[in-house]
Amino acid sequence: MLGDWFLKAYLAHPRLPVWQCGCWFCYGRDLTWIPAYHQPKTPAFQHSIAAIADLGVQLRASLTRMNPIQAWDQMVIAAQLAHHALTSPSRRPWIPQDFLGHWHHASAGLPVC
Ligand SMILES: [Zn+2]
Repeated sequence: MLGDWFLKAYLAHPRLPVWQCGCWFCYGRDLTWIPAYHQPKTPAFQHSIAAIADLGVQLRASLTRMNPIQAWDQMVIAAQLAHHALTSPSRRPWIPQDFLGHWHHASAGLPVC
């Protein structure tokens, strides 16, 4: 079902850069290669792990400019904005998952050391 939802959103806006992934397994390809693979669970898992590792690298790189909480919150905000930039084929917005909002609210007001 998630794959179907993804493909419909992709087909509505196939040129968005957000569909491309630079992880170890995707090599900059559109993410459509994953559901098109003959056994998509394996590349989906590989992409997920590699993408998480890439997020860690990005987070680590941000620590030269801000503390870890701020850096993580900036990444969360960017993810939320990326969701809002998407719409389904029926023009409904792609609602960010609740955990992004929870992380953002949890970060607000934390002391910056
Ligand atoms: Zn990937």
